[in-house]
Amino acid sequence: MLDDIATFDWQAADAAYHLHPFSDHKTLHQEKIRIITGADGVFLTDDRGNRILDGMAGLWCVAVGYGRRELIDAATRQMQSLPFYNTFFKTATRPVIALAERLTAMAPGDLNHAFFACSGSEAVDTALRMARTYWITKGKPEKRVIVGREYGYHGSTTLGAAAGGMVDMHRQGARLPDFDHVMPPYWYGYGGQMSPEEFGLYAAKQLETKIKEIGADNIAAFIGEPIQGAGGVLIPPETYWPEINRICRENDILLIADEVICGFGRTGRMFGAETFGITPDLMTLAKGITSGYIPLSAVLVGDRVADVLINETGEFYHGFTYSGHPVACAVALANLDILENEKLPERAARMGDVLRAKLDAALGDHPMVGEIRHIGLIGAIELTSDKRTRRFFEKRGRVGTICRDHCFANNLVMRAVRDTMVFSPPLTISEAEIDEMVARATRAIEATYDAVRAEMA
Ligand code: PMP
Repeated sequence: MLDDIATFDWQAADAAYHLHPFSDHKTLHQEKIRIITGADGVFLTDDRGNRILDGMAGLWCVAVGYGRRELIDAATRQMQSLPFYNTFFKTATRPVIALAERLTAMAPGDLNHAFFACSGSEAVDTALRMARTYWITKGKPEKRVIVGREYGYHGSTTLGAAAGGMVDMHRQGARLPDFDHVMPPYWYGYGGQMSPEEFGLYAAKQLETKIKEIGADNIAAFIGEPIQGAGGVLIPPETYWPEINRICRENDILLIADEVICGFGRTGRMFGAETFGITPDLMTLAKGITSGYIPLSAVLVGDRVADVLINETGEFYHGFTYSGHPVACAVALANLDILENEKLPERAARMGDVLRAKLDAALGDHPMVGEIRHIGLIGAIELTSDKRTRRFFEKRGRVGTICRDHCFANNLVMRAVRDTMVFSPPLTISEAEIDEMVARATRAIEATYDAVRAEMA
C-alpha cells in the first residue's frame, strides 16, 4: 500500500477502516479529509502539496517545531541501545531516572517526585488515583469527591472525562459519582458588568460555595488547567488562582494543576503555575514534554502527597507497561535541552505579545471580533454577533465551524471551540511567520463575516 502512494485512495480507505477521535463519522467523510504527509518548522504539508501554517502546534504539543534533528537523533540512539524496558520489577533505565531528576529540579515548589505515563489522560487518571489514595492512607476515605470546572478538559479516560466539564462526554458514559463542577473563570462569557478582577474573585468563590454544599470532609481534590485550553482558551483574571489556592489550603483540599497544555513554556514561563501563582500538590504534564514527537506524560508529586505514598501507603496499585518508556524519556531530555538552550518560554512571552499586537491591529476593530486574548503563545479570538454586549451567536458553534473551514481553505490551522477561534503555534514561530498567520486568519475571518452576512440578508 505504502509503495503505491500516488494511486492508492487514502481517503476512501480512511472512510472504510479508520475511526477518528472526537469525530462525527457521518459528516467527517462527506468532505474529503486531508492527508498530512510531512512537516517542517511551523508548516505542515499535505498530499496535494499545500503548505499549511500550523497555528495549533499539532494538538497544542509541538513546542519546538517540526523536523528537529536533535529529537530524532535522541530517539534513534536510545532505540539502538535499549528500545524498551519496564520500570516495574525493581528496575529502571537511565533516561527515566535522568528525566525524573530534571523535571523535579525544573518544577516550582516542592514537586520533588515524578511518575510517568503515556498520555495526558493517563497522567490525570494517575493524579486522581494518587489524591484519593492519599486520603485513604490518611484514614479519611470519605474525602473522595473531585471538583473540576465546566468546560474543563482533563482527557478521555473515564476518570479524566468525569473530572472535566464537557457535558457531551458525560452523556456518553463518563458521568461518575463523586465528581462535581464549578463555573470556569470565563470573564468574556460570564463576567457581565463585573471587571475581570471582580469576576476572577467571584468565579473562585464558587468553589467555596460548592465546598459548603458538599462538605470539605468529602472532597479529595480540586483539579484545574491554569488556562482552560480545549474549553476555549479561558484565561483567568489575575485574581482567580491566588483565591483558589487559598480556598484549597483553608479547606484541606489537594490542588491539582493540569498543565498538559500550559507546561513547557506555552504561557511565557516554563509552567503555567508560575505564570498564575498556583501552588499545586500535584501537576500533570504531557504534550510539550516531548513536543509530541513520541507519547509521554508525567505526574509531578509534591512532598505532602509523596511522603504519604512513599512511607505509608505500601504498594500503590497503579502503573502502565510504558511508564517511563526509555525512548520517550530520551526524547524528552533532548526536548528540554532545546527549550532551555533556545529560551523558548521567554521567546513565547515575547512573540506572544508580537502576535497579539498584530492581531489587534488587523482584527481589533472588526465588528465580528468580540475579544482577542492571549498570554504567551496561547490565545483566542471570540467571534460575536454583537461586539458591544458580547452576545454569542444563536446557534453556538456554527460560525466557529465556518471560520475553521475558511482557515483551512487559507492553509491555516486554527481550532474552533464553539464560536471561539483558538491558537497555540509552535514556540519557535518567527515574526515573518506570525505576519503570515495573521494575514491568513484575517482572510478567514473576513470570509466568515461575508458568509454570515449573506445568510442574514
Ligand atoms: N489535560 C489537558 C489539559 C488536555 O488539554 C489534554 C489533551 N488536550 C489532556 C489532559 C489529555 O491528554 P491526552 O489527549 O494526551 O490524553
